[in-house]
Formats: sequence, structure tokens, C-alpha cells
Amino acid sequence: MTGVQPLINSVVRQPFDICIVGAGIMGLALARHLSAHWPKASVLVLEQNAGTGQETSSRNSEVIHAGLYYPPGSLKARLCVRGNALLYDYCARHDIPHQRIGKLIVAQPGEEAALDQLQTSAQACGVESLTPMSHQDMTRLEPHLQASAALWSPDTGIIDSHALMHRLQHEAELNGALVATNSRLLRADCQGPGIFDVDVEATGEEAPFRLRSRMLINCAGLSANQVAASIGGIDQSLIPALHLVKGHYFALSGRSPFRHLIYPVPDSRHRGLGIHATLDMAGQCRFGPDIEPVSSVDYRVDESRRATFAEAIRTYYPALDETRLQTAYAGIRPRLGSAYADFMIQDEYVHGCPGLIQLFGIESPGLTASLALAELVTLKLQDQAPL
Ligand SMILES: Cc1cc2nc3c(=O)[nH]c(=O)nc-3n(C[C@H](O)[C@H](O)[C@H](O)COP(=O)(O)OP(=O)(O)OC[C@H]3O[C@@H](n4cnc5c(N)ncnc54)[C@H](O)[C@@H]3O)c2cc1C
Repeated sequence: MTGVQPLINSVVRQPFDICIVGAGIMGLALARHLSAHWPKASVLVLEQNAGTGQETSSRNSEVIHAGLYYPPGSLKARLCVRGNALLYDYCARHDIPHQRIGKLIVAQPGEEAALDQLQTSAQACGVESLTPMSHQDMTRLEPHLQASAALWSPDTGIIDSHALMHRLQHEAELNGALVATNSRLLRADCQGPGIFDVDVEATGEEAPFRLRSRMLINCAGLSANQVAASIGGIDQSLIPALHLVKGHYFALSGRSPFRHLIYPVPDSRHRGLGIHATLDMAGQCRFGPDIEPVSSVDYRVDESRRATFAEAIRTYYPALDETRLQTAYAGIRPRLGSAYADFMIQDEYVHGCPGLIQLFGIESPGLTASLALAELVTLKLQDQAPL
């Protein structure tokens, strides 16, 4: 067996019931959920890279968000709150490294009102656990922290996102799903309700090959709009403009000054959450992400950003030794507008093509929301249930 085409032809009957484009956290969560929900369905995941989860899903803060920042009633708010609960439960059941370490959102003099607004908005989203913390308690908890006021979010945590994706893929494969790496969707055609012809270019194959699927799910992250543009038979004017917004990270060498996550109040221009301090599962502290609109995907981290990072970090950590900041990595958000633009899920009621689901703008809190998003997409496909 030399390539993906013979593998696909020999292992699974065609047509496929479900073809998922993209094996980031979303594609893998969907493959796991759909293959468990419809055990008889044949599920194929196409991933253009040599491995799964190599793009945005492995270039983020690895924070399990509590759902504090999003407009009440938005998909981001609802799926984050639901996803938070599902994710903690899933991690506990499958031994995925994670810690519910909690986070402090801290205000500097003059910013205190923003914390009140945040708490009110979080309550409207169903997050009741957010509480103001006294200055004394804050200093006891984090002696190196400088702030005039703080909110405590006990339900925010950290996760090993690679272990999570590995487990989701493993479960999907145990359920019979086929994850084909080195396999890029070139184009697809909606031939009629529940009939998609998909052209795939696979490494090692001399020519692209065609497969057929009854459902097609576009969760191609940064390329979701390109994939959408390559689907014939649907109204192309529905494809939203997607802006690439890069976020860089710097790691702090040596011992972390903090034991919890530290976030400044969100950027008032709705651009992001501000350069915050997170911890990875090994306890290393890292700062980021910042905000840089870009026109292409380039993950390099420029040393020259150190001074800007240091200035932002010193607002809440004045003792920072700038020489300990080391360039770490960068991720790119597929943004539909401001940071608070909602996730976009297009189903047949939007584009009129039964069996097609397109996900756009799955930026933060996409990791946290992934299991809840998979539930929702499954619900939207209910009418297409395989026999
Ligand atoms: C800087 C940053 C920080 C973040 N921090 C957090 C956080 O702390 N907590 C949180 O909950 N969320 C966070 N997020 C959001 C989270 O990382 C994303 O929402 C999530 O990873 C999106 O997953 P995805 O599967 O949609 O996209 P991706 O991981 O990008 O996966 C898409 C996949 O599709 C593949 N693909 C594309 N085109 C094709 C094609 N034509 N054929 C086949 N395959 C294709 C790609 O190769 C890729 O593997 C952050 C995001 C960023 C950028």
C-alpha cells in the first residue's frame, strides 16, 4: 500500500457518510463525537499536513476558559461555558493532563470599573463563580503581583492540548474513523442534497483522486474560507472575510513568579485579552499573545517585541527581569471582525445545501468550546443521519 488513495479505497466502503476537512481540535472532536453518535457511519478526516493538530490547535495558550468575555447569548459564550464543563469531565475520565488552577483578572488604578462590567457580563452568560478578591487575599495568593483590584475565576484552568487531541483521535479511530494525513481537499462539488464529490491531493499519489461523501464538514481553520471558495454549487457570497491576526508568546526562563493565571483587564478596543501570564503543565510561565494583523501565515517570533512585552507585563509584574524573556512561539487567529465577533456555523438553512457544515472564525475560545461545538454540529446534521 503506497498512499492515501489505496488506503481509503481498501479500508472503508465508499461513499463515506461524513468527510471532515481539517484535523485540528475541531476536526478531531467532530470525528470522535460523530463516530460515537453514529457507530455505523463511515467517517473520513482529511488533513493536509503530515500530522494532525499542527496549526492553530497547537499554537495557543492552552487555557480552559470559563466563558467570561463574550457577549451574553453568543455562540462563544454558550459553547465556552458548556465546553468548559465537558472538557474538565473528559480530561478527568481519560487522564488528560490538566489543572483547574484558577485565574486572576487584575485592574490597575482607574480600571476597576472594567472588572465590575466583566462580572456583570459573566453572570449574564451563566458564569456565577467569578468573585471579587480583596487586595490582601490577592497579595497572599500572588505576592509578586501588582494591581489595585482583582476578580478570581476558579473555573479557569490549563490543559495539555496535544494529549487532548491525541486522545480524541485515538477514540475516533477506535470507533472506525479514518484520519488521512498528507491529504488536502482541492475542491468539492455539491451534486445534490447529501452528495458531495471531493477531490483530494495526497502526498505520494501521482494525481488527485475523487471520493464521494454524504456529508461534508469544513473545519479548516485559517483556510476555512479557501476551502469554502473551492466548493462548487453553493453561493460564494456567503463566505465571510477572514482576517489573520497573529499572537506572539515569550516564555519566562527559570521559576515562575505566579501560581495562577494572571490576565489584565481586556483590551478596551475589543482586540484581545491583553498580554497575560499563563503556565504550562510543567509550570513554566509564558506571556502573550499580543495582536498583530498579518496577511500571510508566518509563525516566526521577532526578538524586537521583547521591549513591548516587558512594558505590558510590568504593569502587573513590576519586578520582571526582561533578560529572562525568551521568544517562544506564535499562533494565528482566524478572525471575522473584532475579538468579540462570534463563531460562525453555516448549515443548510444558510446555504441551502443539506449535509454541508462550514465553521468560520473558530478563534479563542475554540479549544475550550471544541467538545460543545462538536455536539452542536452533530445536532445540526441530525436530519442527515446515516441509515
Ligand atoms: C494565539 C492564540 C491563542 C489561543 N488561546 C486559546 C486558549 O487559551 N483557549 C482556547 O480555548 N482557545 C484558544 N485559542 C483558540 C484555539 O486555538 C482555536 O479555536 C482552535 O485551535 C481552532 O481549531 P481548528 O481545528 O478550528 O483549527 P486548526 O487547528 O487550525 O485546524 C485546521 C486544520 O485544517 C487543516 N486544513 C486546512 N486546509 C485544508 C485542506 N484544504 N485540506 C485538508 N486539511 C486542511 C489544517 O492543516 C489544520 O490542521 C487560541 C488561538 C490563538 C491563535
